[in-house]
Amino acid sequence: MLLFITGAFIGSFMLCLTYEEWSLLRKSQCESCHHQLNIIDLIPVLSFFIRRGRCHYCGVKLSSKYIISEISTGCALMLIYFNPALDNTLLYTITIILIPLAIYDTERMKIPNFMLLILMLILLITNIHDYYNEMISFNLTINMMTILYKLLMIILLHLFFFLTNSIGYGDIKLFSILLIFLPIPFFIALFFITYLIGGLACIVFLSYKSNLKRIPLVPFITAAFFVVILLYDAIKKLYFGGFV
Ligand SMILES: [Zn+2]
Repeated sequence: MLLFITGAFIGSFMLCLTYEEWSLLRKSQCESCHHQLNIIDLIPVLSFFIRRGRCHYCGVKLSSKYIISEISTGCALMLIYFNPALDNTLLYTITIILIPLAIYDTERMKIPNFMLLILMLILLITNIHDYYNEMISFNLTINMMTILYKLLMIILLHLFFFLTNSIGYGDIKLFSILLIFLPIPFFIALFFITYLIGGLACIVFLSYKSNLKRIPLVPFITAAFFVVILLYDAIKKLYFGGFV
């Protein structure tokens, strides 16, 4: 429960950050009447239900993106906690940035660069110790191979972008950052499941809305990320023979 509450607060904070609202924890004033919000309005999740999703002062319906970000971040952190597939710090860090990015991408069809920078920085800081340990440990050849593979895959991602023109460059940047920090099998599974879910969703969308031109990719990356966390052990056994 504590984890959920923490997640809700982080979800609220990260979404504000993504939308460049520099007030701590969701908007400090109503978008419609600009009335200053009080403490109760700033509590994640709870305030939404107390006020029934409306502004307390003018009655305008509040944007649902905050409640979505709060609940999904809270649930996601609990999911990772109960399914320790990998290094949890790594997964927590990626989660708290992916969810607000998915919401932002859905609404505006782009990914803010500074959020990618923040993701990169946090991942570097939380992983630097592990990298140092790996570097001074024995398996230098294996490390070099991993780095080489990852470089090659980043080049392939860029080729995919330049040749097919079917993906936004923001998505390529996000994929590249994830590739640097995630284990290779995890990333490969993530990439393919993203397109699997995305493809299925496209079929559903197209069946009742034919003028669909672009769809945001980050929501599908996020969904795929959690599918891979849940199925990581099975995926490793099925596709990689359990050797990695
Ligand atoms: Zn209002």
